[in-house]
Amino acid sequence: MPTALVTGITGQDGSYLAEFLLDKGYRVIGIVRRSSTTPYERIAHLIDRVELLSADLLDQTSLTDVVGDTQPDEVYNLAAQSFVQTSWSQPVLTGEFTALGVTRMLEAVKKAAPKARFYQASSSEMFGKVVESPQSETTPFYPRSPYGVAKVYGHWITVNYRESFGLYAVSGILFNHESPRRGLEFVTRKVTDAAARIKLGLAHELRLGNLDARRDWGYAGDYVDAMWRMLQQDVPDDYVVGTGKTWSVRQLCETAFACVGLDYRDYVVQDPRFFRPAEVDLLVANPAKAARQLGWEPKVGFAELIEMMVRADMDRHAPLGRK
Ligand code: GDP
Repeated sequence: MPTALVTGITGQDGSYLAEFLLDKGYRVIGIVRRSSTTPYERIAHLIDRVELLSADLLDQTSLTDVVGDTQPDEVYNLAAQSFVQTSWSQPVLTGEFTALGVTRMLEAVKKAAPKARFYQASSSEMFGKVVESPQSETTPFYPRSPYGVAKVYGHWITVNYRESFGLYAVSGILFNHESPRRGLEFVTRKVTDAAARIKLGLAHELRLGNLDARRDWGYAGDYVDAMWRMLQQDVPDDYVVGTGKTWSVRQLCETAFACVGLDYRDYVVQDPRFFRPAEVDLLVANPAKAARQLGWEPKVGFAELIEMMVRADMDRHAPLGRK
């Protein structure tokens, strides 16, 4: 039975990846930070099937010990400060987790389990103010937030440990991926949750920032399969993962509100609080290499994804809504 070690297991991607790996017969070990409360909502249904160990991306010793003790075959580094907006108000902490945390994990692997295969969760935010469209593995980076800058560091340190020390280390450049388990601060979930609450009479408006930003939104459940495939190749390499289609925040609103029979224009209010100091206007992937070499392609399309999220939010809020 192969062993996988996952940082960020309590997050959206960690929970889908844990399900995926358990189905494949892996022993799944998750790294969690010590806390007096338990943020295990997303893995509650898996809690008897995964092992959780305490370590912290800010603490080298704890990481090296966990990697040494568990001797994983595969390591997935999904933990990060992952919200772009927060990276402006907490830029140093974002750098500690999202940039230097990658080096600490790579050091742990190099010292304690150098044969383990390492996956780094890189991000389309590295393309930022895009220099070409669509974006592929050869598109230069131009990050536009402390988060994007930290992810560029994480990408290059992964490539450097591969080239310098011969580690099987890969960087998966994933475009935005969403699900009913997405954090409520991200725009897709913010919109689907609001559409459900407005429909049920629990809210009357939705305050958003830039409605013209465009993203390539896919389904997180599809994307964890691509992560795993990247670690099953003969040669470690980096891959872009996305749908190749792009939609505006406005289209997202239109689609989500239409799912509950409403017109978003009656409820969406623009609020300067949600605009960003620097914006990423357009992201759209060229996932041709992942299709060709990994045999990967997305299964869930945009409309289906948004409908899945709206339905889940309707179910969650229904007990509180008007009868
Ligand atoms: P990101 O691509 O990682 O920054 O993912 P987000 O879901 O946080 O944001 C996607 C896009 O939606 C960005 O261009 C935001 O500027 C835009 N956006 C517009 N209004 C909002 C809002 O109220 N919240 C968030 N999170 N994003 C918003």
